[in-house]
Amino acid sequence: MTMKVIVAEKSGFCQGVKNAISTAETILASEPGPIYSLGPIIHNKEVVGQLKKAGLIMANSVEQIQTGTVIIRSHGAVPEHIAELKQRGLKIVDATCILVKRLQTIAKELQEADYKVVIIGDENHPEIRAVMGCARDVIVVADEKDLHKLPKNTKLGVVCQTTESPDHVSAMLGAIAKVGFRELKVINTLCKEAVKRQKSAVKLCKQVDIMFVLGDLESANTRRLAELCKKYNKQTFHLQNWNELDKNIFSGKNIAGVTAGASTPEWIIAEFVENLAAFDDSAL
Ligand code: SF4
Repeated sequence: MTMKVIVAEKSGFCQGVKNAISTAETILASEPGPIYSLGPIIHNKEVVGQLKKAGLIMANSVEQIQTGTVIIRSHGAVPEHIAELKQRGLKIVDATCILVKRLQTIAKELQEADYKVVIIGDENHPEIRAVMGCARDVIVVADEKDLHKLPKNTKLGVVCQTTESPDHVSAMLGAIAKVGFRELKVINTLCKEAVKRQKSAVKLCKQVDIMFVLGDLESANTRRLAELCKKYNKQTFHLQNWNELDKNIFSGKNIAGVTAGASTPEWIIAEFVENLAAFDDSAL
């Protein structure tokens, strides 16, 4: 029997990711090279692999780059690193998403206005590492276990990683308020594109027998989608592509839902949906 497949209303590439890829393609076609990206230009191995074939060199640190052009990825980069590259005479092309830039600017402004900057997010994620480089003494809290890091009786200026979910942010704000503060200023830095994908994924996962979330395992927004869907549908699977799928999990399932993170290319979604719709589990 074949499966009915429903794709989430909102899924796949966001504007920030599209912009980073088209910037890289334009630079690769027009600049003499070598052309680097500081870290993966987006969190998707397939896209990074295609750009590598077209000539983009991925550097993991500024020390690896001596000449040419450097593209700053959608997650941004630490200002000190950008300054160092400029000082060496390298050409910088900034493909940081405008919403990530906005978060960086807000963190800096809060710090200049004497707030202790608190970011709700993952301190190991490149977006947050870049923001930490924009303001001094930033405190990053991923969950309630991290709240011991917060000073008491202080002016707290709270922002969040762009791809957090509104539910997690509101729960964290409630918990932060209980820690005690002199003043609490909260600025919403969530990305509307990521939130739209979360809402449509949650809506869909409640209607299906099995839910697939497509995207790189490193992608924070894809991981967030999978985490949310798992909450409402235990039969949720985060996969990078069709080849990773264990077909035995289809047994007894009639309707499948598919969504994808903001860095997952359309062709991966289309290939997955096409194969899923054509798959006959009676062959198992
Ligand atoms: S998910 Fe949002 S913040 Fe992240 S790159 Fe896309 S548009 Fe920008």
